[in-house]
Amino acid sequence: MTDRIINVAVDGPAGAGKSSISRAAAAELGYIYVDTGALYRAVGLYALENGIPTSDAEAIAAMLGGVEVSLQFVDGAQQVLLNGRDVSAQIRTPEASMAASAVSAVPAVRDFLFETQRAIAREHSCIMDGRDIGTVVLPDAQVKVFLTAKPELRARRRYDELIAKGQTVEFKDVLDDLLERDYNDSHRAVAPLRPAPDGVVLDNSDLDLPASIAALIAIIKEKTNG
Ligand code: C5P
Repeated sequence: MTDRIINVAVDGPAGAGKSSISRAAAAELGYIYVDTGALYRAVGLYALENGIPTSDAEAIAAMLGGVEVSLQFVDGAQQVLLNGRDVSAQIRTPEASMAASAVSAVPAVRDFLFETQRAIAREHSCIMDGRDIGTVVLPDAQVKVFLTAKPELRARRRYDELIAKGQTVEFKDVLDDLLERDYNDSHRAVAPLRPAPDGVVLDNSDLDLPASIAALIAIIKEKTNG
């Protein structure tokens, strides 16, 4: 181990397993794991709670003056605070997912969250997951991975996760939501979801969780000579 700070960017579409794989790899390597989607979800949740239409970019930009979002790490686990309130559970509903996808297309929202993400990476070795980490937020990250899998598999994983949390959902709705979010995320004008030109694409359609974690760790070790 050296003292140098290592930043690993993991981007990819919804349900590719970014969070489970990144969290486990980070724990193994002694890095913190940063889930940037939680920040967008918190902003989306604020809009939902305050009746602000997520399709109205001007209203979304205007509401940001009343929003404070931050991440804190308790025993390595990330919590997201919205105006001082821990909303880590509330941001995980399908409604919050769609709201996050909508507000994330608003440039003012991306600017608003940019420095929060950069500040964490400056101070900690981390695996940061999102959609634009390797391309926009941390263009100098030592390791950039684009994690993906076939849409039906990603939807199946999301569905199983939501069911395990006790939510009532239909597989078809989960798949439709995921395809809609994929489309929104990769077609927006600002920071669209796409692999970084200097990154590695890891398709885990045929890998189970332990094999995916091992593959990510192998890429990180190779790129950092660790
Ligand atoms: O990763 P997660 O599914 O929690 O992200 C929720 C939404 O937030 C995504 O669909 C995407 O629109 C947005 N997002 C983003 N940029 C990031 C992380 C998430 O636009 N870095």
